[in-house]
Amino acid sequence: MISGTLSIKSLYLNGLRRVPPQASRYICLLPKMAQRKNALNRNVDGSFFVDSSCIDCGTCCYLAPDHFASSGSNSFVYSQPTTQSDISNALLALVDCPVSAIGAPNELTSQIPNNAFPLWVTENASGSVYYCGWSSKRSYGASSWLILRSDGNVLIDSPRWSSTLAKQIKKMGGVKFMILTHSDDVADHERWSNALNCERWIHENDADSAPNAEKILHGMDCFSLEEGLIIIPTPGHTAGSVVVVLGDYEQVLFSGDHLWWNQEKESLVASRNYCWWNWDEQIESIKKLDNLEVKWLLPGHGYSHKFKLGEWKVALAELINYLS
Ligand code: SF4
Repeated sequence: MISGTLSIKSLYLNGLRRVPPQASRYICLLPKMAQRKNALNRNVDGSFFVDSSCIDCGTCCYLAPDHFASSGSNSFVYSQPTTQSDISNALLALVDCPVSAIGAPNELTSQIPNNAFPLWVTENASGSVYYCGWSSKRSYGASSWLILRSDGNVLIDSPRWSSTLAKQIKKMGGVKFMILTHSDDVADHERWSNALNCERWIHENDADSAPNAEKILHGMDCFSLEEGLIIIPTPGHTAGSVVVVLGDYEQVLFSGDHLWWNQEKESLVASRNYCWWNWDEQIESIKKLDNLEVKWLLPGHGYSHKFKLGEWKVALAELINYLS
């Protein structure tokens, strides 16, 4: 793994995970089970497998990169987990998979705690950040994030609906706002909003994807939602894409599908192939982020990345230079 690129796994294995209060009965509430008879031939023999329902969203590869890899058309198990910590991590990928394409024997899946997610990632003076897991097929396995804040928690994009996850989030204080970064990643927002009684924010240009959203963001100016929580309109990937910045120092940037980290190239990337609206506008929107000092980049798709002081500006300048 590249230095500075921390997967959720490395946080988990380094003992940084904060277990939510009132853990836990051991229970697995998955809507569907992967079928071993449909297991992909590329899986190595062993307990875990991926079946043919895989949509190659990459989620398992980001979460458990030592065990799952993509062939280009689907993902597969290339190395079976053997230690208990590796098995626990592969089980997180099993829960997170948006189409339940990952299978394992009952004696392993019965070990999944109901508080497996949310998973602690980082924190700064403005909040503590958790990865929600439970990715949704509707958002092609996009990541969603929970921010615990003293004046009310915030959900960034929508996970797949899960009563198990909803119970955990309620135990952690519920959610005051759900910020939808763009139209692709709204998933089960309506159900989450009803269950958590939270206000949804979305930009006016993507509002047709969440027509009942309680709050609409207008215009292209940065918007300070609360102290230490800023929404920046970044049109391009979609007309109403936004990013969210947590904190004034050691900032956490929730970038939606605006840009993400490429682990192989060790660089920030934005993709013209995955630009659904206006590529020139997207490049201009990337330039809007050069006054930030990001410590953590947490995207909807692609790898997260932790930057040392000063590295963000260098990486962003390299991306802008590459795209210009
Ligand atoms: S998380 Fe599931 S759908 Fe996504 S790549 Fe892995 S096995 Fe395939």
